[in-house]
Amino acid sequence: MRDETPNSWEARAETNSFYGFTDLPSVHERGTVVLTHGEGPYVFDVHGGRYLDANSGLWNMVAGFDHPGMAAAAKAQYDKFPGYHAFFGRMSDQTVMLSEKLVEVSPFERGKVFYTNSGSEANDTMVKMLWFLGAAEGHTEKRKILTRKNGYHGVTVVSASMTGKPYNSVFGLPLDGFIHLTCPHYWREGQAGETEAEFTARLAKELEDTIAAEGAETIAGFFAEPVMGAGGVIPPSDGYFQAIAPILKKHGIPLIADEVICGFGRTGGVWGCETYDFMPDAIISSKNLTAGYFPMGAVILGPELSDRLQAASEAIEEFPHGFTASGHPVGSAIALKAIDLILNGDDDSGPLIENVRRMTPIFEQHMARLGEHPHIGEIRGKGLMGALEAVQDKATKTPWPGDLSVSERIANTCTDHGLICRPLGQSIVLCPPFIITESQMAEMFEKLERALTQVFDGLTA
Ligand SMILES: *Cc1c(COP(=O)(O)O)cnc(C)c1O
Repeated sequence: MRDETPNSWEARAETNSFYGFTDLPSVHERGTVVLTHGEGPYVFDVHGGRYLDANSGLWNMVAGFDHPGMAAAAKAQYDKFPGYHAFFGRMSDQTVMLSEKLVEVSPFERGKVFYTNSGSEANDTMVKMLWFLGAAEGHTEKRKILTRKNGYHGVTVVSASMTGKPYNSVFGLPLDGFIHLTCPHYWREGQAGETEAEFTARLAKELEDTIAAEGAETIAGFFAEPVMGAGGVIPPSDGYFQAIAPILKKHGIPLIADEVICGFGRTGGVWGCETYDFMPDAIISSKNLTAGYFPMGAVILGPELSDRLQAASEAIEEFPHGFTASGHPVGSAIALKAIDLILNGDDDSGPLIENVRRMTPIFEQHMARLGEHPHIGEIRGKGLMGALEAVQDKATKTPWPGDLSVSERIANTCTDHGLICRPLGQSIVLCPPFIITESQMAEMFEKLERALTQVFDGLTA
């Protein structure tokens, strides 16, 4: 639905607001979807239109858009102590409790937490920690950061440099010393005749060779999402983390798991590193951490990095870093509630992670059905995150010509049917809220299938 009058919400949005990551000609043509509220996994626009949000907002609104327990936790903390910082040896009681909880539910036997307002800032913070450690420990040359092509780590200058996407070249990024390795996507990156095991071995060798060429003493860390999210929902090839983790360990290079999407249940395990059975040296968390009810990120350091950062900070007297709202008491109270809901549930719902596990096979069955479509080349995913990749020719994996904007057409057609899903490259990404029911899941796939049929029929007619 779109109101074309000059003073409409659509016109007002375009007049005074910039958009993030938005195809502007398409918004100009279709109009901004201006939203007012939500119910469960649905959001509503200013005209009363209802959309099932198959992307949980931006992966993060896992408890849905009107969870009473989440709102109550926020309100109670606003009433009690609406804001404070975590500088100069002060910190709210909520922040103390949240750090205890994060270390308790982390894969680490002990550790320490540093707070930010976003995932980007958490990645920047982690890089500054690694650089700080290098300087404090007498290895000032230890500054290079390894990530993978298609990896998404955020938009601040450092986290954008870590992000392996071509669009960052418009900013003159990446900065020097940010090195992007091959994306572990076997379907797209595997060579003719190469088995998945051989592909994984080739990527491990690339890592070895890169470390040898750059010099292990110059590399500060390796960052990886367990399942790539904004790269198009790309699970690692079989045995990937088991192949690379020992190489990093041998060269003393910390492995940082960017769990901003995977963390807190998205893949079915509490952490992506749990689902894929590897032990990182630190975890980056955001998005699900507050179920999207507050902007917050966290760096969770395992025992070794905690001890080293503690020693380095004591030697220099402080770790000179922090954001005004780091460890915000309301954010901390909200995160405590979100974690409790995800892991334990409350009077309104059972543990949300249990629902993720219950819904995953149903999600996979629907995906498999759509995967039979002649123009769906690959279906992939883990837990309640998945992608369907559109192709012009299934046998040769030939993509559609870029100027057809196939995934955008599919997503726009879905929006017309009351379903929000996200085009990413030539794929459609689905990551519904953890509260989704079986019938809402059926509705999601029914609407998506209708859109796929309409768009592909239109292209091949
Ligand atoms: C979203 C995301 C980020 C960035 O988080 P922001 O809060 O948008 O800054 C970092 N890493 C991953 C894996 C993400 O999905």
